[in-house]
Parts: sequence; structure tokens; C-alpha cells
Amino acid sequence: MGEAKLKVELLTFTPEPAITAATAAHLCYAGIDIEELKKKVSPEYAKKLIAHLAKAGHFSPLEHASFTFAIEGISRACSHQLVRHRIASYSQQSQRYVKEKGFNFIVPPKIKADEKAYKLFLDSMEKAEKAYEELLKTAKAEDARFLLPNATETRIVVTMNTRSLYNFFERRCCSRAQWEIRALANKMLELCKQAAPDLFAAAGAICEKLGYCPEKETCGRYPLKKDALKGND
Ligand SMILES: Cc1cc2nc3c(=O)[nH]c(=O)nc-3n(C[C@H](O)[C@H](O)[C@H](O)COP(=O)(O)OP(=O)(O)OC[C@H]3O[C@@H](n4cnc5c(N)ncnc54)[C@H](O)[C@@H]3O)c2cc1C
Repeated sequence: MGEAKLKVELLTFTPEPAITAATAAHLCYAGIDIEELKKKVSPEYAKKLIAHLAKAGHFSPLEHASFTFAIEGISRACSHQLVRHRIASYSQQSQRYVKEKGFNFIVPPKIKADEKAYKLFLDSMEKAEKAYEELLKTAKAEDARFLLPNATETRIVVTMNTRSLYNFFERRCCSRAQWEIRALANKMLELCKQAAPDLFAAAGAICEKLGYCPEKETCGRYPLKKDALKGND
């Protein structure tokens, strides 16, 4: 049993993802056949076209490029938030078939920073582990797992297309999103930007797209909508 750390790897993605998405978009607008289409979309043109699509809100061509991530060191609380994003494919380590041997867990940084709270947290993990292992002597893992806390570490493989990733980043890279899924989203965004910079040039928290903060309170990165649009009436 011990504390787990976030680890995210980009396992694989659509080859030439920007060209693939731009080729699909160009087909919509150009009256040409496939052979001609394949020759027409250079990396420079793909970059321009993707920037245009993002600005115009024509996101469907971005669905043709997908990215697969392997994630570990997140809590079951976080994976529950992640799988609410329905436009994706998931494979998560089973608590029915995999017995948690001395299970690992995630500690919220604010709890770790508070000595008393941290001690309470660790004691509670130890108790949960003991009870889980005791129960496993007589019960199946699928029943014993009911004792496991939200903090239990999980591993998951996620595939999302670029459009869904844009939506995920808009919501979860926002500084008002919960800290654990925000850390995960920021790491995934970093990996996407490394792998396909042109495709993800406009991706990020919703304020990056709008140029203002749509929340009730801003983190300070962008002004609130009412302040940003002042003088435009
Ligand atoms: C800060 C924050 C707080 C949250 N708090 C809560 C909470 O308190 N309780 C809670 O239950 N959830 C909460 N959520 C989760 C949230 O409601 C969404 O379930 C989650 O963010 C997934 O977003 P999504 O539906 O856009 O993504 P996806 O499921 O990937 O869907 C992508 C897009 O496809 C379209 N779509 C998908 N399915 C449908 C459908 N059935 N009908 C019509 N259009 C569809 C929508 O346009 C949607 O935006 C919170 C999310 C955030 C970011």
C-alpha cells in the first residue's frame, strides 16, 4: 500500500493527424477526386485550414484523428469524472478480476499539507486495507471492493477523437475544474500539443477560445464576460 503518482502516456494516435483532419475538411469544400485531394493538403495548408475550422466552429472534420492515452496514478474519484465524457472509449482495470494487493491511493495535496488531516487520511487507508484483506478471505473481490475508498488508484486506457479532446480540455483545463482531473487534462493537452501542434493550437480551457471567463468568478487569466465586452454595446 502506498501513495501513487499521476502518469500519462500517449500510447498511439492517428498517423499524420493534422493532414488527416484537414483532408476530410478540404473534401467538404473542393470539388475534386480522392487522388487529387491527397496531393492538395500540404502540412502548411493543413495548419491554415485547421485554424480556420477552429475559428468557424466547424469541428466535425477533427473527429477523424484520434489519440489513445494510458493513465495510472489517478483515483477512482477522478476516473469517475473522466468517464462522464461519453464521446470516448475506455478500458479500466477491473476491481472484480484484479484483487487490490495492498492497494495504492491518491492523497489530495491540501490534505497532505495539513499534518492532522494527513494522519487521519493515512489511518483511514490502513483501516480500509485491513478490512478489505480480511473480507477477501471469505468474500469475492467483486464484493470486497465495496470497502475500497474513492482514493484507490486506478489505471485506464482512453481513446478520444480530437473534437472530443477539445471539449474535454475546454471543461477540465479550466482553473475552476477539480484539481486532480485538471492535472490529468493539462498533461493530456501537453502530450497532444507535442504530438500534433497544428491540430491542438487552439485547444485549452474555454476562456482561451472565448477570450473571456464564462464563470461567475475569474481566476484572473481572462476577465469576466461582462468586463471583457464592456464598450461593445
Ligand atoms: C467544473 C465541472 C463541474 C461538474 N459538476 C458536475 C456535477 O455536479 N454533477 C454532474 O452530474 N456532473 C458534473 N459535471 C460533469 C458534466 O456535467 C459533464 O457530464 C462532463 O463534463 C462531460 O461533458 P460533456 O457531456 O460535454 O462530454 P461528452 O459526454 O463527451 O459529450 C460531448 C458533447 O456531445 C454532446 N452530447 C453527448 N451526449 C449527448 C446527449 N445525450 N444528448 C445531447 N448531446 C450530447 C454534447 O454537446 C456534449 O457537450 C461537471 C463538469 C465540470 C467540468
